[in-house]
Amino acid sequence: MARSPKPSGHASVDAVLLDAGGVLLLPHHDTMRTRLAAFGRSATDAELTRAHYLGMAALDAHPEHDWSAYREAVASACGVPAEELAATQQAWAANPCEWTSPTAGVVELLRALADHGVALAVVSNAAGRVEKQLGEAGVCQVGEGLGVPVVAVIDSHVVGVEKPDPGIFSLALDAVGVPAERAIMVGDYAYADVRGAEAAGIRAFHLDPYGDCRTPHDGPDVDRLGAVVDVIRR
Ligand SMILES: [Mg+2]
Repeated sequence: MARSPKPSGHASVDAVLLDAGGVLLLPHHDTMRTRLAAFGRSATDAELTRAHYLGMAALDAHPEHDWSAYREAVASACGVPAEELAATQQAWAANPCEWTSPTAGVVELLRALADHGVALAVVSNAAGRVEKQLGEAGVCQVGEGLGVPVVAVIDSHVVGVEKPDPGIFSLALDAVGVPAERAIMVGDYAYADVRGAEAAGIRAFHLDPYGDCRTPHDGPDVDRLGAVVDVIRR
């Protein structure tokens, strides 16, 4: 059964801030399949998507939020043998996968958000290329283009501050010109996205499609980006 946020007396929403990884983009599926082929494994797009969210739950559960936990969980979910996980995650860390596969249905969902008149902005812990990746994937871009227009793409590498620091959310609010209480944030990393947004006074939704996360956190879980469209309609 679909979970949805509880109704509340919050102010109407004028801006939606979006995490990129896991919300808009996933690690490039064909690159992942090439890597898995070394173990005689393959994975469908759906299986790679499933593996990503298991990885995020492992990352959120890691006491030091070490991305090695993400990579190991993804590799494990894709069938990499237990004795190979440590070496595999190190190899993947040394040669990072580009995050260029759009999440399922994301363009339609962004258009649905945009059709409600809310300003959209991306807030990503990234390496300086997320705006290019989003544009080339046809997901979104600043202004007109292949994807859905957004007001800003805030890349932590570019601005020099990363989630969960509330400073990166303040930059996003400045970009969209909306006060914190009239914005919401959607992300799949409770530690960075939910904690960070709430530290900036922004209501946050944790995208956890399969209910994997066992780490206590504030902010309601949603199982799909479409649930955010429902929040805005209310
Ligand atoms: Mg993410």
